[in-house]
Amino acid sequence: MSDLVYRLRKRAEIRRQISTRKSVQEGKPDRIADLLEEAADYIERLQTVGTYEDVPTKCKDHPDAPHGFDRNASHNADRYVCECESWEPEEKNT
Ligand SMILES: [Zn+2]
Repeated sequence: MSDLVYRLRKRAEIRRQISTRKSVQEGKPDRIADLLEEAADYIERLQTVGTYEDVPTKCKDHPDAPHGFDRNASHNADRYVCECESWEPEEKNT
C-alpha cells in the first residue's frame, strides 16, 4: 500500500473518531471520509492493475487459446493471470 493510500485512509479514520463532529454525534455518514476512502480504493486498484501489467506471463501457444485478463484468478493468485492459463485445448478425436 502506498503512503498516499495509507494517509487517505488514516485521515478518514481520524475524521470518523472526532467526537465533537456533528456527523459523528448523530451517527451519520461522513461524506468527506467516504470520499477519502473511495479515492484510496481507486488508487489502490490502479496500482494493482499497473503491477499486473509489469508481470510477464507465460501464455499457451496453442492457436485456439483465449488471451485476456482473468479477474478472479488474478485476484486469487495476486498476480496477472491470463485466461489461457486455465484453458485446455479440446480433445480432438482423430
Ligand atoms: Zn494468454
